[in-house]
Amino acid sequence: MLIRFVKNFLSGSGHRSGTPLCLMFHRIGELDDQLAPLHPLDAVTEETFRSVIREVAENWCPLSISDLTERLRSGRTIPKRAVVITFDDGFADNLTVALPILEDFCVPATVYVTTGFIDRSIDPFQYDLASLVCASTEIEFGWAGQRRRWHLNSAVARTECYTEIYRHLKSSTATVRTAAMSGLMNGVRNLPDHRVRYLTWEQLQELAASPLITIGGHTHSHLVLDAVNRDEMAADIERGRQLLQSRLRVAVRHFSYPYGHHDRTVRRTVSNLGFQCAMETDRNRNRQPSDLFQIPRVSVTNETAFTILGPTEEACVGALRPTSSIKWESTDATDR
Ligand SMILES: [Zn+2]
Repeated sequence: MLIRFVKNFLSGSGHRSGTPLCLMFHRIGELDDQLAPLHPLDAVTEETFRSVIREVAENWCPLSISDLTERLRSGRTIPKRAVVITFDDGFADNLTVALPILEDFCVPATVYVTTGFIDRSIDPFQYDLASLVCASTEIEFGWAGQRRRWHLNSAVARTECYTEIYRHLKSSTATVRTAAMSGLMNGVRNLPDHRVRYLTWEQLQELAASPLITIGGHTHSHLVLDAVNRDEMAADIERGRQLLQSRLRVAVRHFSYPYGHHDRTVRRTVSNLGFQCAMETDRNRNRQPSDLFQIPRVSVTNETAFTILGPTEEACVGALRPTSSIKWESTDATDR
């Protein structure tokens, strides 16, 4: 039944021949039960991923990012049912879970890496914040002269608190994020170390050594590039690329925008720094790339796959649940 879902998704009505379908993944694995309500889009299961890749191998034309870029650049034909597989951020399961599946079906993929996650100089604040919210009875947060306090006695309160703080921190500089998270986590003990979710340099080297894998840039600090100072934006993109090139000894020519955010200045900066193309995100899987620095991708998660599939298929895909069906393990997760 899962295969049926994947076929429906991939062969989705209206997908025109010659329009490359670029798929975006992050983690491949199980959602963390406790964090899932706050991170419903975080991962697709190994089962779903294998089914997608099997379908791609059997009924689509998988392209590497270099092949796609070259075809777009030269005006050569994009094959019918062309598909490009990509991952963002640099999660360890891209090596341990995804790569063996890609190898089984000989499907190429690009991994866009945020180098600060790899060298552990940038904390994954979204996971830290989620753990903090789950482990706290109340949180107080100050922003732009205002302070708010949340009593975290319900799933709704936890989601609201998380969403509000996440929204502020997402668009901040790395320095502001770090300072804010240090203040919030001051005195809090025994939270999980989410940095282990990401590849180490050794693992990234192993991943990059696969002939199926292309490594692309995804900044050093995972900033919202059109929200920060222009100099900081350019420096962060270049720092990530330089680190990848020096540690992996590969040319890094492809880029994806963190959170999919960009504007004209960001695009020009990425181009001027020597990247050949850049990927954004778009829910419209039938949109043609408008240029090499605005190649649309569709996010594939259990959540979005289900939305694309539509509610009538719900009974067919037991492994896939819409967000609303993910319940908190306990009505009061703050007792831990
Ligand atoms: Zn990212």
